Amino acid sequence: MRKPEPLEVGVIFWTGGELGVEASPDEICASVRALGVRCGQLAVHGAAELSEATAAAWREALERHEISVVTVFAGFSGESYESIPISRETVGFVPLATRVEREQRAGAVIDFGAALGVPSFALHVGHVPDPSDEDYAKVRDLVRRVCDRCAAHGMTFALETGQESAAALLQFLKDVDRENLGINFDPANMILYGSGEPLDALELVKERVISVHCKDGARPESEGEWGKETPLGEGDVGMDRYVAKLKEIGYMGSLTIEREIVGDEQRADILGAIALLERLRAA
Ligand code: MG
Repeated sequence: MRKPEPLEVGVIFWTGGELGVEASPDEICASVRALGVRCGQLAVHGAAELSEATAAAWREALERHEISVVTVFAGFSGESYESIPISRETVGFVPLATRVEREQRAGAVIDFGAALGVPSFALHVGHVPDPSDEDYAKVRDLVRRVCDRCAAHGMTFALETGQESAAALLQFLKDVDRENLGINFDPANMILYGSGEPLDALELVKERVISVHCKDGARPESEGEWGKETPLGEGDVGMDRYVAKLKEIGYMGSLTIEREIVGDEQRADILGAIALLERLRAA
C-alpha cells in the first residue's frame, strides 16, 4: 500500500451497513475516489462481517481504486453518542458488560486491518476511569493486550481524543507503557466534550500523535452538554491555526476529514473541507 505524502488530505469512510452506505467495497472505494482523495481511514462498524472473503474484497477494491488506508477504526455495536452521560455508559472498552466481547472484536478488527496491510488501529477507548478507581488498572491492562495484538502485526494503536483532558490522556499512555500506543487527535472532540483547548492539548501530546482527524465544532452552551459539530472551518477549532500547528510540531501523517452526518450534505461538506485543507496545506 502506498504511503501517503505528509499532510495528504483524506477522509474517514465506513465498511458500509449501520453507519455507512449499503454498498460493496468496490462501490464505497469508487465513491471515495470520486471525492478526489487517495487516502483515508476505514471505519469498521460493530456488526460488519470480518471474514477472509470480506478482507479479500476490501483488499482488491482498495488496490483497484488506489486508496491507501492509514488506519482501521473500530466502532462497537451498542455504542451511543446521544449525550455525554450515555456515551460514558456505552462507548469503548470501559463499559463492563461488553468488555470481554469488545476486546475480542477489537482483535478481529486488528487482524482484518493487518490482512489489508493497514499500519494502524484506532478506536474510542471510552471514558477512562480515574486513576484512583480500581477499574483503572483493568482498563490499562486491556489496552496493553490490544497494543500487543497490534504489535504482533507491526501495527500502531491510536486512541481517539475527546473524552479526556490531554493531561489525563497522556498519563494513561504513560501508565500503559507501550511504544506502539499513541493518539488519533480530533480537535473538534476536545471542543464537543468540553475537554480543553484543542491546540494547547495538541502541544501537550505532540510526541504521541500517530494520526489526526480534521473535524470542527462549536462549544457547548452549558457544561456537560454536547457542543455541535459543524462543517470544517465554521466551528471553534480554527482550521488555519490547527493545520499550522500540525506543521509546527512536524506531523507527517495524513489529514483525515471526519464529518459525522450522512447523505448529500455530508458529501458537500467533505468537498468543501478538501478544498479548505488543500489551501491550508499549501499555505
Ligand atoms: Mg474523530
